[in-house]
Amino acid sequence: MKSVYFFDEGDGNDRRLLGGKGAGLCEMTSLGLPVPPGFVITTDVCRAYYGNGRRVPQGAMAEVRRAVSRLERETGKGWNSPDNPLLVSVRSGAAVSMPGMMDTILNLGLNDRTVEGLARASGDDRFAWDSYRRFIQLFGKVVFGVDDSKFEAVLDRAKRREGAESDGDLGAGALRGIVAEFKRICEEQTGRRFPSDPHRQLEMAVLAVFGSWMGERAVVYRENEGITPDIADGTAVNVVAMVFGNMGSDSATGVVFTRDPGDGARRLFGEYLVNAQGEDVVAGTRTPKPIDKLRAELPGTDAELRRVCARLERHYREPQDIEFTAERGRFYLLQTRAAKTNAAAMVKFSVDMVREKLITREQGLRRLKLDKLEQLLHPTLDPKAASGAEPAVRGIAASPGAASGIAVFDTGRAAKMGGDGKRVILVREETKPEDVPAFYKSVGILTSRGGKSSHAAVVARGMGKPCIVGTSGMRIDYAAARCTVPGGAAIREGDTITIDGSDGSVYRGELPTVEPGITAEFRTILEWAGRAKRLGVRANADTPAAARQAREYGARGIGLCRTERMFNEEGRIGVFQDMIMAESDAERRRHLKKLAAMQRGDFEKILGAMAGHQVTIRLLDPPLHEFLPKPEELADRLRAMGRRRAAGPEGRAAKARLERARELAEENPMMGHRGVRVGVTHPEIYEAQIEAVFDAAAALKRRGIDARPQVMVPQVGSASELAFVKGIFDAVAARKRAGGARVRVAFGTMIEVVRAALTAGELVGASASFFSFGTNDLTQATYSFSREDAEGKFLPQYLDKGLLGGNPFESLDRSGVGRLVEIAVEDGRRADPGLEIGICGEHGGDPASIRFCHAAGVSYVSASAHRRRLPSADGRRVRRPDRRSLARTLGADCRPSTSAT
Ligand code: PEP
Ligand code: MG
Repeated sequence: MKSVYFFDEGDGNDRRLLGGKGAGLCEMTSLGLPVPPGFVITTDVCRAYYGNGRRVPQGAMAEVRRAVSRLERETGKGWNSPDNPLLVSVRSGAAVSMPGMMDTILNLGLNDRTVEGLARASGDDRFAWDSYRRFIQLFGKVVFGVDDSKFEAVLDRAKRREGAESDGDLGAGALRGIVAEFKRICEEQTGRRFPSDPHRQLEMAVLAVFGSWMGERAVVYRENEGITPDIADGTAVNVVAMVFGNMGSDSATGVVFTRDPGDGARRLFGEYLVNAQGEDVVAGTRTPKPIDKLRAELPGTDAELRRVCARLERHYREPQDIEFTAERGRFYLLQTRAAKTNAAAMVKFSVDMVREKLITREQGLRRLKLDKLEQLLHPTLDPKAASGAEPAVRGIAASPGAASGIAVFDTGRAAKMGGDGKRVILVREETKPEDVPAFYKSVGILTSRGGKSSHAAVVARGMGKPCIVGTSGMRIDYAAARCTVPGGAAIREGDTITIDGSDGSVYRGELPTVEPGITAEFRTILEWAGRAKRLGVRANADTPAAARQAREYGARGIGLCRTERMFNEEGRIGVFQDMIMAESDAERRRHLKKLAAMQRGDFEKILGAMAGHQVTIRLLDPPLHEFLPKPEELADRLRAMGRRRAAGPEGRAAKARLERARELAEENPMMGHRGVRVGVTHPEIYEAQIEAVFDAAAALKRRGIDARPQVMVPQVGSASELAFVKGIFDAVAARKRAGGARVRVAFGTMIEVVRAALTAGELVGASASFFSFGTNDLTQATYSFSREDAEGKFLPQYLDKGLLGGNPFESLDRSGVGRLVEIAVEDGRRADPGLEIGICGEHGGDPASIRFCHAAGVSYVSASAHRRRLPSADGRRVRRPDRRSLARTLGADCRPSTSAT
């Protein structure tokens, strides 16, 4: 096995072997771009290290030593040389970029001898000793696990002693003392002398990088981002000859994006620092300058930077995120990778790059990260509210979107409170990779230091969370868990604040947000996608407003209109309860008449909003008892009445309600009296709903509007059930025809019960003209566990223990639920080749499930126009179970059932 590839040997496309960073360095070298010489220790070595009980395979380190000798020849410097020492950086790099997850060591090769050589070769004593102290600090942190605050405390003491404002004001003498103290800290931690042999240093650094692959931060990141071994398996190690951006005023270092990652505009975006090393830019310890200023300060470097940016974009056909260093005026590229941007930027530059003829339209569509597109549907601050509100403090807008939550100053507490379901805004001076678990649990991030390329900004942007950095007016007192802002009371932990990551404003209290509009570029993407697609796209929408919005978002039809949701509106739930509680059919019909009139109005509006497209209206589905007060509460109320009132008409009515509520209560609501079963026991309910659909369609027809309703029956498990409802449907249709209405209403069924999937052909025989897979219930039924219990109780453990590859409620389980889908499609189409088949479970919005449905022969997918996600207790993303929101809307009287809706 070849363990080491020089940058001029490696294949720039082989990211799995060389890691993203290594592949980029190899590719840039092959393009003749200015990359310092170096080599990559492959991911094969990392895997062998783990396969070998955490031991580097034989021969690998010997190869590394030979590679170092070659580096000496190429740079003309000497390893462990007291005159002109070769120093290297050691950086990790997996196949996919994991920003801030793994560790970097700079200036490796320094010791008490070589530091003098560096001082002589550079003619700068201070520079040499500063490089040495940085090396020990990074090495101590990464290799020995020393807490950085110990080093920072030494630096702070030295600055106070010397009267220095910043690290850069410390002289060589002070730095010598700091180096000695840093070494002592490391030696105290390890009980051993700090290694001075550069080979030993390198070996230890390589092992530490391999070790960090399985470090908690990296593991959590991979889990949250779904980075499985087939995507990235092990990290490579990049060993690169050091170039120095801190060699004086003609040296600099910076990070730039070739296009603005905030809005996607075609302009360089980034920051730099003169006379600094890369760590200073990303760590947020010094506030860097915007890249626009580079031209005035270092025109040669600026020109070279612009040239290579254009070249890299042309080559990769993808905006790049690069790191550069100028050492005494000489320009070097240290890294390039595909830029991580927010969704709006991704959409903008995808469209722009097609127009610039850098990529084709198909490439423009295929390169979109579908999960990210969801960001475009996130709320932003209501401009009206924001215009009247005075920000408490402002910082640098680093990741767009707005969020309100309680300020929390401690990462551990933030992770815990976020995990408990609180909306948390993490407030810190700056953030570090070890803080990432708290990011997942927070709705937004606010820091007092750092620029747009600081750790907080990069990670938040990648996660699509609002973030503000560099809020320099804010002074945090961690011990008191509060921060002061200019001219106002302190913000204490637990206070509600709102951050606007699009303009950098921090407000006290909660400000309203608004749904985002669709940009011209997003519209263009939707239009291109619309032309390219073969699968129909509908939306799940239950109200006229949702139907209008779905249409605006490009949905061509409604795949699921849950009629029960319409009863949630004010003034309706009471009528609905009365209808259920009715003691006689006549009374029930009276209430139903009122409800049907309300539904008819809604149907008219929904069908009108989707004129020309099908609207699938599902008959009542959830268990009736969900709409009723709990029996215990009714019993309490009855007791509270007192004997006299209880004996009167009021008491009798209350008793009747209590009895009815007890009758309706269920042992296992998911499998109980719901869906078509309610239609069988209370045909008048379905009859009234079907009639309302016919009437709405007829009213629209009279106005010349092309309404296309489809009536869908939920929870069907047998052809006989479906035939029973078809009987009701036909009777209503005949009545309406006799009354002169000539409207076409399709009739079909959901497939969400296992038996329905297995007898799909028979359902076509019972007059289903369309199917729609209710994969929420079908998944529950197939696994025989309820979604809410699963997600709330045991699913995280199943995932942790590797018993499930993913959450089956998020992404369709292909081998189980998927098999049922395939059987039903096959049998249904055998019975009726023209059968329309859709999917309306939440999986209809999941890219992997959509791919599966497409292959299985499904005609269209339907999902909520917005699919909001909530972090689960363990940080994985799970979707909000809709039933909970239904329960909330109905108030405390309503019990959420264990069903999926
Ligand atoms: C389903 O079960 O997938 C479905 C769409 O119905 P509901 O979620 O309303 O139960
Ligand atoms: Mg269902």
